[in-house]
Amino acid sequence: MATYKLLLLPGDGIGPEVMTEVEKTAAVLSDLGVAHFEMEKGLVGGSAYDAHGQSISDSDMALAQAADAVIFGAVGGPKWDAVPYDVRPEAGLLRLRKDLALFANLRPAICYPALADASSLKREIVENLDIMIVRELTGGVYFGEPKQIIDLGNGQKRGIDTQVYDTYEIERIGRVAFELARKRGNKVTSSEKRNVMKSGVLWHEVIVALHAREFKDVQLEHQLADSLAMQLVRWPKQFDVIVTDNLFGDILSDIAAMLTGSLGMLPSASLGEMDAKTGKRKSLYEPVHGSAPDIAGKGLANPIAMIGSLAMALRYSFGQGDTADKIEKAIADVLASGLRTADIKGNATSTVSTTQMGDAIATELRKAFA
Ligand code: NAD
Repeated sequence: MATYKLLLLPGDGIGPEVMTEVEKTAAVLSDLGVAHFEMEKGLVGGSAYDAHGQSISDSDMALAQAADAVIFGAVGGPKWDAVPYDVRPEAGLLRLRKDLALFANLRPAICYPALADASSLKREIVENLDIMIVRELTGGVYFGEPKQIIDLGNGQKRGIDTQVYDTYEIERIGRVAFELARKRGNKVTSSEKRNVMKSGVLWHEVIVALHAREFKDVQLEHQLADSLAMQLVRWPKQFDVIVTDNLFGDILSDIAAMLTGSLGMLPSASLGEMDAKTGKRKSLYEPVHGSAPDIAGKGLANPIAMIGSLAMALRYSFGQGDTADKIEKAIADVLASGLRTADIKGNATSTVSTTQMGDAIATELRKAFA
């Protein structure tokens, strides 16, 4: 049985509650002889600040570097609103992304048929939706220099952000998208604003060249980011893999998230460069949602996004796509049986707790391997 080294960073708010359900799922896989996990636990965000005045300690960073995958809960909450900027809870996540060089953010938007009515769009538009947004995570306007506010001396100030992309950054994120598409619907939609942005012209040029050179078998389309936003709510099922930059990806992936009904349903992956020698890459898996302080400690959190993040780790870090499929099927079956946490209640007459949802998924998972 394969053994994988996981670093669990539950974080704050509902993070620890949903992480417990990941441990439960991992224990089932271990028990069934499918995969064994060596798990270490660390602190991140506000809980790390409370313990040692940093949003993540150097020793936990070292554990993250050594892990086969990091499984991250969520950080933040009103308790830490006034802590110094450099050690605010989010700084822990940003340090992980930076130090592990996680340049590719994968956000699937899947709409389970049982939840189609929870979407703000009509059932026929979202039912069985399965798209993947690949967002460049370490470049572009969020990091480009100069980045400043300058005083013009005439009572006016000027805010400056710089959108900058080099060829290698576009190539490596494009490669992730094309490779993913080959394992899915074999179609990539690349999105930028080449009509008004030079970085968009380069993005388009590099993606076209990469496609011609290495991925001719994959269907490639281009859409301007504003038009793509419109198409995402008009007919999202036309897409398979969407690849885009940091800024547009931030916005488009949130639109896609809402198609699926609830934040509590959405996992994500952040991947680094593949090591040519070992074939491994640094990776971090996390739910899209935050620490939900409004429901923390009440047993109300939906653990599906967190459990789905473990499924993504199995698929993208450990080559266990079949096991990931089984976890996702267990989730779909539990939803089809009518079980609901409060966030996805819809017309259901009763709801279950975080623990009960995790138990039900564990039971279905056992059946899937029976
Ligand atoms: P949030 O995602 O925490 O919550 C938004 C709403 O969705 C809330 O009503 C919450 O109860 C609900 N919700 C979220 N996840 C849920 C789940 N699993 N089950 C049921 N309901 C769920 O976003 P927010 O309220 O804007 O932010 C709260 C805190 O989380 C802030 O401190 C913010 O900075 C932080 N945050 C952290 C991350 C992260 O750790 N990656 C991401 C977003 C926000």
